[in-house]
Amino acid sequence: MTPNTDRNQQLFDRARQVIPGGVNSPVRAFRAVGGTPRFVQRAEGAYFWDAEGKRHIDYIGSWGPMILGHGHPAVLEAVQKAALDGFSFGAPTEREIELAEEILSLVPSMDMVRLVSSGTEAGMSAIRLARGATGRSKLIKFEGCYHGHADALLVKAGSGLATFGNPTSAGVPPEVVQHTLVLEYNNVAQLEEAFALHGKELACLIIEPIAGNMNFVRASVPFMRRCRELCTEHGALLVLDEVMTGFRVALGSAQGVYAKAIPGFKPDISVLGKVIGGGMPLAAFGGPRAVMEQLAPLGPVYQAGTLSGNPVATACGLATLKEIRKPGFFDALSAKTKSLVDGLSAAAKAEGVAFSADCEGGMFGFFLLDVLPQNYTQVMKSDGARFNTLFHGLLDRGVYIAPALYEAGFVSSAHSAADVEETVAAARSVFKSLAG
Ligand SMILES: *Cc1c(COP(=O)(O)O)cnc(C)c1O
Repeated sequence: MTPNTDRNQQLFDRARQVIPGGVNSPVRAFRAVGGTPRFVQRAEGAYFWDAEGKRHIDYIGSWGPMILGHGHPAVLEAVQKAALDGFSFGAPTEREIELAEEILSLVPSMDMVRLVSSGTEAGMSAIRLARGATGRSKLIKFEGCYHGHADALLVKAGSGLATFGNPTSAGVPPEVVQHTLVLEYNNVAQLEEAFALHGKELACLIIEPIAGNMNFVRASVPFMRRCRELCTEHGALLVLDEVMTGFRVALGSAQGVYAKAIPGFKPDISVLGKVIGGGMPLAAFGGPRAVMEQLAPLGPVYQAGTLSGNPVATACGLATLKEIRKPGFFDALSAKTKSLVDGLSAAAKAEGVAFSADCEGGMFGFFLLDVLPQNYTQVMKSDGARFNTLFHGLLDRGVYIAPALYEAGFVSSAHSAADVEETVAAARSVFKSLAG
C-alpha cells in the first residue's frame, strides 16, 4: 500500500491512536457522512484552511459562537489584552460584572446570571436550580432537542406517555432518567396530556425554542404559548435553552422573537452559551432574582466552577456582544442569511431537487424534503445518502457545512455577498447530480 499523502488523513490516523475516534467531540469525526475530517490549520473571517492548505467557506463557525467570523480585530485585541493581565485567578474580577450587566441588558427576562464554562454545565445547573427552587423532581424535554450531555438529559422517549424516558447513552443508569419525560416537539395535545398527568410533580420544562440540534425546527407559536401557560398553571419553571439561539437569532435571542408573537412572553430560566463566549469556553444561566438567589452561596442549590467567569473568556464574550449590539448588525446578518437560504432554495428548484429551508438571524437550516419538518420523526425522514452526496459535493467545492443532516448552519458578519454567491453556485452544481 502506498502511504497516504493527504495531510488531513495523516493527522486523522495519528489522532485515532491517542484520542477516541480521533476527536474530542463525536460529530467532528464525520461518522454520519463518511470520509476524512478536515483538520483546521487556521481561520480568518468567513474561512478556515485545512491541513492541506485548502480554503473553506465556514458555515459552522465552531457550531455557532463565531458570529463575527474568525479573528475579528476588536475581539482579538480584547483577548490579547486580557491574557496579558492573567489567565485565571479563581477570584472575582470586574469583567464578570460587566459581562453579566451586558447580558442582562440584552435579555430582560433575567435579573441575575451565573457564568459557567460550557452549555452542558449551564443546562445541567439550570435543571438543578429548577428542581431546588420548586422542590420537585420531574422534568419535560422534547425529542430532538439537545441540552448538553448531563445524565438526566440524555434521554429518548419511552414506550408511552405515562412512562418516563430511556437513556440514549451507555453509562446513564435508568434511575437517573426516571424523572425525565420525553415528548414530541410541537405536539400540543401530548403536552397537555403530560401536564394533566404529571403537572404537580414537574420542576420544569426545558426546550430549545428553535431546535438547532435537529437541523432547524421552530417551536410553533401556539405550542410555545401552551408551554408557557401550562408551566405557569402548574407551578413548573419554563427553561429556554438558548445556548445556540441566544444572541444568534436576534439581539434579544429567541425569547425576544417569541415575545413579538406572544405578548409578555418570557421564560423563567434562560440557558446561554456559544455566542456569549465568542469562541472561548463560556456559558451562563439566569432568571428572576428569587430563583437565582436559591444558588450557593445565598441558597441551598450548589453550583461552582474553577474556571467560571474566566477573565480571558469574559473579555472575548464581552467584545463579541459589544459588536453585535451595534445598530443594524442583526438586520444585515439576517438579510445575508436570508439571501443564502433563498439562493439555495432557488438553485434546488431550478434543478428539480426537493428542498425546504428556514432561517432566523444568523442561523439557518435546510432539508432535502418538500416541506419543513415539525418534529424529530419528520426530520429523520430525510434521506441520509442524498444529504451525504450534498455534503461531500460542497466540501469538494470548498464549502463547509455541518457533517450531519440534523445540525443547523451559521452565517457570520464576515461572510460576504460573494461568499454567499460562491456557495449557491457550488450547491447548484451538486443539485444537478442529485436531480433525477
Ligand atoms: C451546544 C448546545 C449545548 C451544549 O453546549 P456545550 O458548550 O457543547 O456543552 C446545549 N444546548 C444547546 C441548545 C446547544 O446547542
